[in-house]
Amino acid sequence: MKIVVVGGGASGMMAALISAKEGAQVTLIEKNEKTGKKLYITGKGRCNLLNLCSETEFLDNVVTNSKFLFSAIHKFSPEDAYSFFEKMLPLKVERGNRVFPLSDKSSDVLKAFSRALKRYSVKVVLNCNVLAIDGEEYAYTVKTDGGEYSADRVIVATGGKSYPSTGSTGDGLIFAQSAGLEVTKTYPALCPLYVKEDVKSLEGLSLKNVSLTAFCGQKEVVSEFGEMLFTDKGISGPIALTVSSYVNKLDSVTLSLDLKPALNNEVLDKRLIRELDNPDRKFLKSVLRSLMPMRLVEFVMTRAGFKKDKPTGEITKAERGKILSVLKGLKFTVSKVGDYNCAVVTSGGVSVKELTPCCEAKKKKGLYFIGETIDVDALTGGFNLQAAFSTAYAAATSASHDGNRQ
Ligand SMILES: Cc1cc2nc3c(=O)[nH]c(=O)nc-3n(C[C@H](O)[C@H](O)[C@H](O)COP(=O)(O)OP(=O)(O)OC[C@H]3O[C@@H](n4cnc5c(N)ncnc54)[C@H](O)[C@@H]3O)c2cc1C
Repeated sequence: MKIVVVGGGASGMMAALISAKEGAQVTLIEKNEKTGKKLYITGKGRCNLLNLCSETEFLDNVVTNSKFLFSAIHKFSPEDAYSFFEKMLPLKVERGNRVFPLSDKSSDVLKAFSRALKRYSVKVVLNCNVLAIDGEEYAYTVKTDGGEYSADRVIVATGGKSYPSTGSTGDGLIFAQSAGLEVTKTYPALCPLYVKEDVKSLEGLSLKNVSLTAFCGQKEVVSEFGEMLFTDKGISGPIALTVSSYVNKLDSVTLSLDLKPALNNEVLDKRLIRELDNPDRKFLKSVLRSLMPMRLVEFVMTRAGFKKDKPTGEITKAERGKILSVLKGLKFTVSKVGDYNCAVVTSGGVSVKELTPCCEAKKKKGLYFIGETIDVDALTGGFNLQAAFSTAYAAATSASHDGNRQ
């Protein structure tokens, strides 16, 4: 069986390796001068390879089309992935079941892949840009800027559109469209959020144990608890990235930031009364200082409509209510979500309706789409790489065997 894998990223390297292990004659074509450029920058250079959770937990962390991954994740579960990589390099499991190389170096994952691809005689062709994939029913020609490659099966692993500097420029989606497959509209996901309000004074401030709720009109879309970071024009950090994946397709999104999610209104009001009655706290500023970082105090006071030097003695019950409502729901209006240059993943891609559970195009036998080319995206924590590896495994095991058609 002759298989050409297009794209030498996470899913492409995995698909090439598994296909070769299954006995296929494999060529892996990558347009960059080296494989795995994006993998190299994952997990801030540490590579959060997967999440050692149950299959159900994995699916719970998939934002778009989780059902489609049901079969692939069962074929190559997080446990399977852990055992697979454990044989290639030492691993460690951190908070939240996140798995990293023991060395904390993504380069070690890349080296392990390179060694394995060599051992299983995968022909790796670098600096080779795939321009088109022609053909039908198990007979394909992969056209590149360096010549043509014939194949019985082609696995397209060109990634999404995010971080185009790593080589993921959405080429696979064009190949899919040329093959007559439906491609859903793409959106940046897991990216910072821009807000209309001026937050420049808060740039660099990070908040822990806060909760961020997004609304579309009156309807709550998602609510996340954890850490966030103010940027010069909006918010970023773990909970903002998660929220972005749920609001990226929506217009008119507002955010409500609860600075004290652990305290309900009644408890927080009592705390406010206590602090306001404290003779050491002469100004509202010092009361708020006891509740939040200094840099946020002035911002909150302005938003609640108070002057900087508001004395505590002058605060009325109604004004206390105003403070309370700002503390429990500081409002922002999303102007836009970040673009592909800063999006961790791409939402949208080859429609799952076009693919079998093994990621083969229903209309084009022998043509597969895996990883981020598919209209599937997950949250942070190792779930996107797991999706890339599981779809790669499903496609590779299917592609390398005759008579294994869906
Ligand atoms: C900054 C950052 C950090 C991340 N961290 C994590 C993390 O820690 N854990 C996690 O689970 N996920 C993480 N992700 C997401 C994860 O990296 C991706 O979901 C995953 O790499 C997708 O794999 P892929 O194989 O589909 O695509 P990619 O890894 O993008 O690979 C696609 C490859 O195809 C090549 N290619 C494209 N077009 C062509 C063509 N025409 N011809 C030849 N080659 C082509 C590209 O050059 C590229 O090498 C991160 C993403 C980013 C941007």
